[in-house]
Amino acid sequence: MTGALSDLLNNKPLAKEHLVQLLGITNQEEHEALLHHGLNTKAASVGRIVYLRGLIELTNKCAKNCFYCGIRAGNDTIERYFLSDEDVLQAAEFAYKNQFGSLVIQTGELSGPIFAAQIERLLKLIHRHTNNELTITLSCGEQSQEVYQRWKEAGASRYLLRIEASNRKLYEFIHPADGNHDYDTRIKGLEDLKKCGYQVGTGVMIGLPGQTLEDLADDLLFFFKMDIDMVGMGPYLEHADTPMFDQRNLLLPASERFLLSLRMIALLRIMMPYINIAASTALETINPLGRQMGILAGANVVMPNLTPVTDRKKYLLYNNKPNLDKDASLSTATLNDVLSSIGETIGYGRAGDSIHFSHRQA
Ligand code: SAH
Ligand code: SF4
Repeated sequence: MTGALSDLLNNKPLAKEHLVQLLGITNQEEHEALLHHGLNTKAASVGRIVYLRGLIELTNKCAKNCFYCGIRAGNDTIERYFLSDEDVLQAAEFAYKNQFGSLVIQTGELSGPIFAAQIERLLKLIHRHTNNELTITLSCGEQSQEVYQRWKEAGASRYLLRIEASNRKLYEFIHPADGNHDYDTRIKGLEDLKKCGYQVGTGVMIGLPGQTLEDLADDLLFFFKMDIDMVGMGPYLEHADTPMFDQRNLLLPASERFLLSLRMIALLRIMMPYINIAASTALETINPLGRQMGILAGANVVMPNLTPVTDRKKYLLYNNKPNLDKDASLSTATLNDVLSSIGETIGYGRAGDSIHFSHRQA
């Protein structure tokens, strides 16, 4: 057993070099011992309860050009959509009736007064329609502090803004230098969200071209230092119509990106026992059992997709996204069975707020 693993299992504090060693585990037994420790930590802190967030991919319109993303503005091979109020309310109603407790509204990054007003109006509409019983997370990219505040007042309680890569150089490598993608602005976004009183989520992609284990260890330390309430992270996946596709021969095999992502989840759970951690769809893209494996490494949130099936096919951040045709009620029933079979309970009807956040408030 590596020294770092036995230190970890004996609850010794984690330094960066330990994180690097643990992320670099190649021995299967050690890998499993690490994930198991993640699961045990979860059981003792937030419990073996999985919270559901119904995901509504409101629009694939985006003004940005992140090199890795399939819905970047520069991809002119896709048809753009913006869901109607009726579609949004239908998805919200599904979440409400099925006791999801919570919704996530995700979009490409748009800005300006029209977009700000659209989101504000939808937040109020959803809350009215669902008796104020669903909590809402937004994932709508970088906005001004005023807009974050306005959306908070309209009823959003959580916000996800992934840093994507906490190493500034890597961040700059995966985004164009066009004045729209600035590392410091991204960090300021996270700080502004905190000031507005949100439960703040961030995250990274794992297995980016040129990314090292040191970078990933720093990502974990970044979440810790930023005292973040929730994390959504998962493997980077290729999309053929993006500039980053040209670097695909620099990538680790998908199976390794997958295992590395599980170790990232386990280590993060051990470092930040009370935060919410999502088992990302990207995990499930590499391995059909990915979501439950993420849960068994320490994640406690899943986000079933409630976007209408016709539009879901146009929200392809990466290739081979799963469940493109699956009806939401079918996937919910399956999820229930799958999670019970691995010893987890679904937190039906519960908001599943970040306990870390309530500690932070206190
Ligand atoms: N536009 C918003 C939210 C939608 S994108 C934003 O960028 O913040 C949501 C997340 O999808 C991004 O944060 C990114 O981490 C992830 N993503 C995009 N392209 C991806 C890819 N090729 N592989 C894995 N994750 C990807
Ligand atoms: Fe737009 Fe978000 Fe994709 Fe970047 S990651 S191109 S901001 S949707």
